[in-house]
Amino acid sequence: MTAPPSPLLVMKFGGTSVGSAPAIANAVEITRNARAEYPGVVIVTSAMSGVTNLLLAGADAAARGDMSAVHHAATEMRDKHYTAARAIIPDQGFAMQLQAEVETLITTFVSLCQAVGVLGEATPRALDAIAALGERMSIRLLAAALNANGIPAQPVDSAHLIVTDNRFQDALPDFPATTDRTRAGLFPLLERGVVPVVTGFIGATPTGITTTLGRGGSDYSAAILGAVLPAQDVWIWTDVDGVMSADPRLVPDARTIPSLTFREIGELAYFGAKVLHPKTIRPVIEAGVGLRVCNTFNPTHPGTRIVLNGDKSGALKAVTAIRGQKMVTVEGRGMLGVPGVAARTFQAVAETGTSVILITQASSEQSISFCIPASSVERVIAALEKAFAAELARRDIDRIWATDENVIVTVVGAGLQYTSGIAGRLFMSLGNIGVNILAIAQGSSEAAISMVLAAQDAETAVRAIHDLIIMGH
Ligand code: ADP
Ligand code: ASP
Ligand code: MG
Repeated sequence: MTAPPSPLLVMKFGGTSVGSAPAIANAVEITRNARAEYPGVVIVTSAMSGVTNLLLAGADAAARGDMSAVHHAATEMRDKHYTAARAIIPDQGFAMQLQAEVETLITTFVSLCQAVGVLGEATPRALDAIAALGERMSIRLLAAALNANGIPAQPVDSAHLIVTDNRFQDALPDFPATTDRTRAGLFPLLERGVVPVVTGFIGATPTGITTTLGRGGSDYSAAILGAVLPAQDVWIWTDVDGVMSADPRLVPDARTIPSLTFREIGELAYFGAKVLHPKTIRPVIEAGVGLRVCNTFNPTHPGTRIVLNGDKSGALKAVTAIRGQKMVTVEGRGMLGVPGVAARTFQAVAETGTSVILITQASSEQSISFCIPASSVERVIAALEKAFAAELARRDIDRIWATDENVIVTVVGAGLQYTSGIAGRLFMSLGNIGVNILAIAQGSSEAAISMVLAAQDAETAVRAIHDLIIMGH
């Protein structure tokens, strides 16, 4: 295999960045400018905004026998893609060819939904086959737009590049196999000066069955490709000016953070900041690839650079929230004497397939509390009651219970935990507005403090903490 041009840049466009004709026009100009800077550019794209939701809602409706909802979804997707295609691709012949390709994928959607309807159930494997169609449509649209504007581009299905296990809807990549396939698939295009326009979100098992990397997973796709090519940089193009001090939809005066360490962005992503999928960080750090988040709708703004080492002043940088959680507590005065309570607790939770987001334990070892998605609570409590049936009968464990719905609010800033007075100011600012903190976790990372609060306190707490950030604490 010959070497591709170097250095390489991977650019990922999110759903809104390819969501309309004007957005796609911006993406085209961004690509043109990037090619002036990097001899090789690889694009990864999401489905047009809303399309993955339409596909999954269609599958869900089909499972309930509602085929008319499937046809509505098909019409909506057709309109979305055709309207954009007509606006971006002046050549009628090319526009018609693109429409025919999109139509084939929409027909596949309808047939898959018919199959789901017959079975009366959408399996995870079927859901992945259906959800993957959005990116299969958008790569064709974006590649056609690039070609129409004089940038040679080719749509590439990442099912041929990213090899995964068969955990449908949350598949994990096999990096060595992915490295070989990605280089074999993309180097020849790059050598010819063609921009590969690759589906985000999608992989395939070694035998070629389509999988997806989880919702929001296109960021991860870009990181995987960036790591295995390898690229010099990965730029994530989205609809806000980079990573901000809070979700701008929740906090209107949120500000762009010019630079963040990998650890800080990792904590933010893990604790719910939707701007970057949490799995994005690791492949790029390990491969030494640069990461940047920037705005398709404001491309001259520098956005946020993710750096290896930043200031560890302990300044608060960002606040984020994960909703829809409940805190489960296992408690009892006899727990001190029960061997391996924590291990058995988390073993039982793991067996239900639930991931635990945050853990706290009272120092007296009389209780363990942890947060899980509210939808998993019943299953988890049943599993724990089974695992600890003997201890419950002996009253070594008094009860296993869950709170009403919670939110986990996390403050991020490297060095936070070593900066005296920060935690005090945080808790006081919440106390002052009557927000009760149910639990606190600092975790092993020095970059974040998380608090569990009642669901209804989410917005007031995030805004109060954001005021502290703005004041420079
Ligand atoms: P894309 O489709 O480009 O992947 P997403 O909707 O997945 O875009 O992520 C971008 C959105 O993330 C923003 O529009 C914003 O509302 C939300 N968001 C949440 N927290 C943050 C944050 N701290 N900084 C920036 N955006 C955030
Ligand atoms: N289209 C997929 C989703 O909506 C993946 C992504 O946009 O990152 O989840
Ligand atoms: Mg996203």
